[in-house]
Amino acid sequence: MHNIHDTNHRPVLFISDLHLEPRRPAVTRLFIQFLAQNARQAQALYILGDLFEAWIGDDALDTEDPVIHGLRALTTAGVPVYVMRGNRDFLLGEGFSRATGAFLLDDMSRITLDGVQVLLLHGDTLCTDDIEYQRFRAVVRDPHWQTEFLAKPRAQRLAYAARARRESTEHNRRTDTARLDVSPHSVQQILREQGTRHMIHGHTHRPGVHRFELDGEPAQRIVLGDWYEQGSLLLCEGGRWQLRQLALGEVPTATPRSR
Ligand code: MN
Repeated sequence: MHNIHDTNHRPVLFISDLHLEPRRPAVTRLFIQFLAQNARQAQALYILGDLFEAWIGDDALDTEDPVIHGLRALTTAGVPVYVMRGNRDFLLGEGFSRATGAFLLDDMSRITLDGVQVLLLHGDTLCTDDIEYQRFRAVVRDPHWQTEFLAKPRAQRLAYAARARRESTEHNRRTDTARLDVSPHSVQQILREQGTRHMIHGHTHRPGVHRFELDGEPAQRIVLGDWYEQGSLLLCEGGRWQLRQLALGEVPTATPRSR
């Protein structure tokens, strides 16, 4: 029997790389509108990293912030929200989870979507040709480093985040684009290890659906788009998976893009 309340007839939505920050208020407004409208109709919302341009610790969280409020309203309405940490907001923690009702999702999580196993990643771990970035990642993902960092005064953490962002923008500018993309070898290796043939990730800001063959089987890698000149999402409904864009209501101000 078909039933309009059957959640299986609702889409599953995937987004990433919003890089929300005060100096791009139009994108924040678009996201809040997305939470209140599109996402309300969803079976689940997955945010695969870099929701925020920077996150210096849950203690800096403002419960009155419209983004936190919008996420809380969505989970309260019964839509499960899963949030993966990205390379910008890797310090999202239990405080964020409590304030929003969102579940924190580990990088490299597997879900069943339309009957197939799909591997979810932020995507930065696939960029293995970018040695300098992988070195930085190893440092800041170390639990001891994180404990020490979170113990520092807020002003010091903000200064570090600003510096890291400047250095990252500079690094991305002087590194050739191929090196900044995912390594095909790493993609294949991870799919083999995980025993899946489908992955969804963000990070590179190069949205697309890549179909290829892996050990004689069809495989698929879907890359989510960013939220700079538009909103971007992957909509999965009844076996159809489609990348979509959301129009930004107004002209965004030019800001340096980081990933
Ligand atoms: Mn990223």
